[in-house]
Amino acid sequence: MTVTVIGAGLAGCEAAWQLARRGIDVTLCEMKPLKKTPAHTSDDFAELCCSNSLRGAGLENAVGLLKEELRRLESLILNCADRTAVAAGGALAVDRQGFSALVTERIRSHPHIRICAEEVTALPEGEVIVATGPLTSEPLAEAIQALIGPGRDLHFFDAAAPLVSFESVDMDSAFFASRYDKGTADYINCPLNKEEYLSFHAELTRAREAEVHGFEDQQVFEGCMPVEVMARRGVDTLRYGPLKPRGLRDPKTGSEPYAVVQLRKDNARGSVYNLVGFQTHLKFPEQKRVFSMIPALREADFLRYGVMHRNTYLDSPRLLNRYYQLKSEPRLSFAGQMTGVEGYVESAASGFLAGVETARRLMGLQPVDFPRETAIGALGLYISDETVRDFQPMNINFGLIPPLDHRVKGKRNKNAELSARSLEIVETLRETVAAGMPEEEPI
Ligand code: FAD
Repeated sequence: MTVTVIGAGLAGCEAAWQLARRGIDVTLCEMKPLKKTPAHTSDDFAELCCSNSLRGAGLENAVGLLKEELRRLESLILNCADRTAVAAGGALAVDRQGFSALVTERIRSHPHIRICAEEVTALPEGEVIVATGPLTSEPLAEAIQALIGPGRDLHFFDAAAPLVSFESVDMDSAFFASRYDKGTADYINCPLNKEEYLSFHAELTRAREAEVHGFEDQQVFEGCMPVEVMARRGVDTLRYGPLKPRGLRDPKTGSEPYAVVQLRKDNARGSVYNLVGFQTHLKFPEQKRVFSMIPALREADFLRYGVMHRNTYLDSPRLLNRYYQLKSEPRLSFAGQMTGVEGYVESAASGFLAGVETARRLMGLQPVDFPRETAIGALGLYISDETVRDFQPMNINFGLIPPLDHRVKGKRNKNAELSARSLEIVETLRETVAAGMPEEEPI
């Protein structure tokens, strides 16, 4: 049995490696160097399109935990990143070319992996893992669209609003309510008085925007207007748009505030909230500076900043299960950024799980159910969580992982304990995950 993996990016290489290490033949199809996406420039696999950082290394960071889990479970991407690391303070950054060259060399020299240098334009028969990334070439994107059918569009633009953790919202300056008290009080409402609104508006209109890259389609700004663009249309435009106070009474004053920013639950547990209508392409430090002017968000912990670039991703909660398999056709799995995980490490993690679970299925083994307490499990459960309605790509964060059952002083200590709990679980799963891998062959 051969598995076809499409796309030799971070997810595709990791998936191919996990399959091959378990003795399964892989055909890895990559369109480079014949054709390149607008963001890819090198001929090597696992190209880092932008930053050379795989973000925080410490276990008080959720992405540090995700990396440690992958490292312990013999991920190719983590192994190559560790071997090509460059000094970067508390982060794991790599020598960009060295990293991609090493991944390419390991993949090309594996006896169970055959490289097929072509653009895939239709979904192949048999066992397939699609890992063609946020810039999936158009013919394949169309084939995927045809497979999933109308009404479940691939999203072509990522126009995401920032996310904050619930625990960092100052609820003394905010209140739960829904407009005109209709239904349950689902929204957190962050009121601004006139003076606060005017200062916020003034800063928003002059905040620095991120560069719009050549490959990005300017049309996005017509269909889904960034909050800063809307603000520039007039001082009151936002008060008639996303910041409208109509039907919201502040229990502290008994009256309607001058303006209100609403936060909506982003996950079923209510540990993560998004800023409603705040799609933006301001630079990240500017988002922090300006959005922290909203009184209830003064100390907000931004779990993800708003972004705007082309991004092909699936409405995974409706389509995929926790193993990244298409529910309607389990021979097909997806991996990487196109499943709605966000970031280099997260993409590798989904490739890891898709590869391991596909291998296990072919070996006649039960899937490994990574629990929500682990970062790998939390990501798989997030992308397949049917309660998430407006699905947006997400970095790993501790909001996706269940809290501890006891109080711990200080965020860093708490996060370190969450990581320790996860790594204990990962240790118990190691042997099961390694099934099918030759003992004598070190990674
Ligand atoms: P990719 O790494 O993009 O790999 C997909 C591969 O599939 C590519 O090699 C591509 O050539 C190939 N392919 C596409 N279509 C076909 C086809 N039809 N047939 C055959 N091959 C095909 N994340 C971060 O953590 N840090 C960052 O700094 C960062 N910067 C980013 C900048 C940009 C411009 C973009 C678009 C995304 C960025 N991301 C970043 C998000 C994300 O982490 C990366 O996109 C990451 O590379 C995704 O990994 P992947 O394996 O899903 O896709």
